[in-house]
Amino acid sequence: MQTIDKFNFSGKKAFVRVDFNVPVDENFQITDDTRIRAALPTLKKILADGGSLIIASHMGRPKKNPDTKFSLKVIVPHVSKLLGVNLKFASDCMGAETAALASSLKAGEALLLENLRFYAEEEGKPRGEFATDEEKAEAKKAVKESQKKFTATLASYADCYVNDAFGTAHRAHASTALIAKHFDESNKMFGYLMEKEVNAVEKIMKDTARPFTAIMGGSKVSSKIEIIENLLTKVDNLIIAGGMTYTFTKALGGKIGNSICEDDKLDLALELLDKAKKNGVNMVLAVDAKIADNFSNDANTSFVKVDAIPDGWEGLDIGPETEKIFSDVIKNSKTILWNGPTGVFEFDNFTSGSRAVGNAIVEATKNGAFSLVGGGDSVACVNKFGLFDGVSYVSTGGGALLEAIEGRVLPGIEAIRGY
Ligand code: AMP
Repeated sequence: MQTIDKFNFSGKKAFVRVDFNVPVDENFQITDDTRIRAALPTLKKILADGGSLIIASHMGRPKKNPDTKFSLKVIVPHVSKLLGVNLKFASDCMGAETAALASSLKAGEALLLENLRFYAEEEGKPRGEFATDEEKAEAKKAVKESQKKFTATLASYADCYVNDAFGTAHRAHASTALIAKHFDESNKMFGYLMEKEVNAVEKIMKDTARPFTAIMGGSKVSSKIEIIENLLTKVDNLIIAGGMTYTFTKALGGKIGNSICEDDKLDLALELLDKAKKNGVNMVLAVDAKIADNFSNDANTSFVKVDAIPDGWEGLDIGPETEKIFSDVIKNSKTILWNGPTGVFEFDNFTSGSRAVGNAIVEATKNGAFSLVGGGDSVACVNKFGLFDGVSYVSTGGGALLEAIEGRVLPGIEAIRGY
């Protein structure tokens, strides 16, 4: 497989798919440029080699072409500054003018294409309303057909293809997967960010040092079933935290008061416990809870056994006994995956459990464990508690990471290296 480090970009034009889907405020100012910074090592390596860049990304969810509130033009000055070059901009990712701009690029120059998703062909999904299923099927067929030309056009701009957009690796879109077919093995590769993400996932899912502990938090079991099921074939310890705790507690006959619960998932919770037992996985559940008399930071609070929550009260975080149990398991682990907070960490009075989990992960990491934190809210936790530098890797890819943990093949990865 080709790698970015081995590849010499001198004299080559590189089509680089990045994730520049950054948040912007009402004045079109970037409010968080993490995603742009994350792609810089790849972009800078290509320029430093004497290559030129055709940078492509999506932004937001445009519904038409053009949909100016989603124009990537607004990020040009900032990217220019970070990259240290005068970034050119193609106001359409298709068309003769863009092809000419790409073809005239000289060594060390960079061109940003307008939002790929202005074209329905990028995602390969038809737009608009359809009166019948047949009409929709026809429209889908048409967009899939025109997607071939769209993809070939993007590929025609460059000599090589670099995918550095892990955030969209779980999508089989034109620029994230299909385009790779237009380049031979030696001319397509992951960028540095993508490489790091893929390696981090492999380190926990394939090349696992044991014991392996996963901490699954967040609000609902239903959104994490497939991940939990896959993890039950991989981990030694599975810590269940956050709102989903109470579905398990209720399934086991406990009293959960007004705590969040999915009543239609009680059987599933029991099945997961049973599967854990069969697989020899130590399923670690909370034993106590910090409860509140309403869903707010200023609610009255108390600590109780997790299965004895009075009516009118709800569990918004784990209690101190559980913090200790979770921390001990984590500190004795060699591989750790954290997805989802232990409680409503957005309220300062209910951060203690998530903080304890984060601190235990940092300590285990200091002692040689590999720790991966991923999925929106656990990343927010790590940032809120200033623990970013204490864990081995914080993933940038929400959905992509979760699908990888579910054990799915990600099209963006498969397109580069096959399986
Ligand atoms: P998820 O997106 O499924 O990872 O869920 C994250 C959300 O779960 C966060 O916004 C937390 O506030 C919420 N959460 C965690 N614990 C609880 C709880 N005990 N009750 C209600 N919401 C919770």
